[in-house]
Amino acid sequence: MSEAPASAPRPSSGPPSGPRGAGGPRTGRGGPRFRRPHRKVCRFCADKVAYIDYKDGPRLRSFISERGKILPSRMTGTCAWHQRELTHAIKRARNIAILPFANE
Ligand SMILES: [Zn+2]
Repeated sequence: MSEAPASAPRPSSGPPSGPRGAGGPRTGRGGPRFRRPHRKVCRFCADKVAYIDYKDGPRLRSFISERGKILPSRMTGTCAWHQRELTHAIKRARNIAILPFANE
C-alpha cells in the first residue's frame, strides 16, 4: 500500500481554482441571453388610443389568455398606463359578459 491514489489532489501549489471571496465578480454563468431584437411597442400608444373601450370585445380579447386571464404587459408590450386602462376595461367587459372570467 505504497501507491498513491490516482485521484489525489496536487500537493504543489496549483492554479487558484477555488471560489473567490464573496463580492467577487460573477463568472461562468450569465452568457449571452437570447433577446428579442425589437422591443415591443404598446399597441395602444401606437394607435394613439386615449381611452380603451371596454365594449370592444375583439380587441380586448387579444390581451387575455385562452383561459381568460389578462396577459402581463411583458408579453403584450403594453405600457404601464395602458395596461392599467386595459385591466379596467377588461374587468368592465367581464361584468357585462363581453369577456369571460378566468376559467380553470
Ligand atoms: Zn401605451
